[in-house]
Amino acid sequence: MLAWFDENRRDLPWRRTSDPYAIWVSEIMLQQTQVATVIPYWHRWMEQFPTVESLAAADEQAVLALWQGLGYYRRCRLLLQGAQWVAEHGMPNTAAELLKVPGIGPYTAGAIASIAFNQPTPLVDGNVERVFARLMGDTGVGQELHDSAWVWAKRNLYKKRPGDWNQALMELGATVCRPVAPDCKGCPVADKCVAFQSWRVDELPRKAAKVTTVKLQHVVWVPMLGDKFGVKQIPAGQWWEGMWEFPRVDADGTLEPIQLREMVGQGWKQDVGTVKHSVTHHRITIEVSFVQCDEAAPNLRWVSRQEILEIPMPAPQRKALKLVFSHLGL
Ligand code: SF4
Repeated sequence: MLAWFDENRRDLPWRRTSDPYAIWVSEIMLQQTQVATVIPYWHRWMEQFPTVESLAAADEQAVLALWQGLGYYRRCRLLLQGAQWVAEHGMPNTAAELLKVPGIGPYTAGAIASIAFNQPTPLVDGNVERVFARLMGDTGVGQELHDSAWVWAKRNLYKKRPGDWNQALMELGATVCRPVAPDCKGCPVADKCVAFQSWRVDELPRKAAKVTTVKLQHVVWVPMLGDKFGVKQIPAGQWWEGMWEFPRVDADGTLEPIQLREMVGQGWKQDVGTVKHSVTHHRITIEVSFVQCDEAAPNLRWVSRQEILEIPMPAPQRKALKLVFSHLGL
């Protein structure tokens, strides 16, 4: 495994450093996001917040704005809280201590401890779980599979090079033992792989029951007063809390014009089209209208075109804005 990894490891920017903060940032960004998407974000992030102290001192709005487009904003908020904790208490160097940092769970603790501090700590992510299920022919699903993978990862950790070993397992899952069409012929452990030897690669890991898709319909009005846009901050406890959005309501076919008119005030309204957005198991359809307002509604913050590109906004709202920009020829 390690010989294969030494030869085939991808040259990723966070692999050129042993800075625990830089590795931590990459691990959080990589959760549920592809490597190719993360690379430019990671570079921008490290330029703007090169140290854990610089992140700890940053304003949440600036941090969210930089994260914009990566989605799952809870990760970003927790990274900020974690940085504030580390700035106060110092950076732990063992997995057990790292678990005290807000936002750091067993996987991230294992990654930072083994990669940055060479601690003999295992880790399991989706890639390791898949490699384990196939290699060992494990037929568990969900939490059961996850727990078994942790036990296996702990037992089989190569303690002389724990960071490289963990990365080798993840790299194998990401590039060879892929979810679909794994390259078993190019796999360094094919001769030991239960799934490959028993023709069950396509059956493992077994799939958990499918999560039902939830369809949501929203109506969004994009208010403009002169060359400024009206936005409101999303309250705490709601999806995308703390970010900014245009007035939005759930579409039930009856009350939305009244509710939105109350938020936006009087003006000339025009429908501009529909945008669609998928996040986790939600499919959101948004009917977008543009409103040229007669006066500034007091509950909205009025921002310039430049500002609206900089403030943190949820991805579906960005799509609505893009549609309005193209409608107005901006
Ligand atoms: Fe995965 Fe195939 Fe290698 Fe088994 S032989 S670990 S299924 S790539």
